[in-house]
Amino acid sequence: MILPGNASCQGCPISIAFKALDEIDNPVLVIPAGCSTVIAGMHPVHSLKCPVVHVPFASTTAVAAGLRESYRKQGVDATVVAWMGDGAADIGFSTLSASASRNDDLLVIVVDNEAYMNTGTQSSLATPYGAVTTTTPAGKKTSGRDLGLIMLSHKVSYVATASVGYMKDLRRKFRKAGRMEGFRFIHVHAPCPPGWRFDASMTVDVARLAVETLAWILWEYDGRLRISELSRRAAINRRDLKEYFGIQGRFKAFDDDNLKRIALEIEEKYRILEHLESEHQ
Ligand code: SF4
Repeated sequence: MILPGNASCQGCPISIAFKALDEIDNPVLVIPAGCSTVIAGMHPVHSLKCPVVHVPFASTTAVAAGLRESYRKQGVDATVVAWMGDGAADIGFSTLSASASRNDDLLVIVVDNEAYMNTGTQSSLATPYGAVTTTTPAGKKTSGRDLGLIMLSHKVSYVATASVGYMKDLRRKFRKAGRMEGFRFIHVHAPCPPGWRFDASMTVDVARLAVETLAWILWEYDGRLRISELSRRAAINRRDLKEYFGIQGRFKAFDDDNLKRIALEIEEKYRILEHLESEHQ
């Protein structure tokens, strides 16, 4: 779905995620400003093999819902995908939430690199506690918000988390969500080499470490919530959180107290997901 020679940085997680659009029948993308805009490129230099509509942040899901309705009326077979970063999800949250509340027939994919990377690594609401960004030079003092659980609370058709480190799982979730109806949401963890300060050859390793330490938990809701098998296994044979944070320059100032706080947050999140899983049996 994505052509080589595009404008992404080396090791870009978004260009990896774009590959999985192959799993979706006749995708039409609606993209607000961000790294994905730059990677997709401007006409006539275009790197994606599907139609793309570039839009202002807050209009993303409104444009996508209108497009979907227009295709439906014309009998055009297309899967409209609102594709955005975590920054656009911050700025366009009100329309994103409204679209989910209406159960618009859309697939929304958020590729989350945990900051505003396209404009120079400013902190977003997804930036984790302690991460150094250009607007949090001493490390962020608050935790990152959990967009997946927030979207779940809208009682939509489908919500899942995925990772560019586990493409088989990510592709399956894209394929499944692409074939469903109603509002579907996939939150993709996307480690960014320049923003997180690790070597460009390490993107997949960092993404996998996030899953193996439970810093990023894979789960899926399709009427029933389940923690994905990869995360269930990670909970039994967990890698040391220090490995995940130590590999990233943005956590250079991290000390043991910071790690303890993050470890507690992870435990709490995993317990919430287990509880939701048992509620949905
Ligand atoms: S800043 Fe990060 S997410 Fe953006 S294009 Fe570069 S590697 Fe990709």
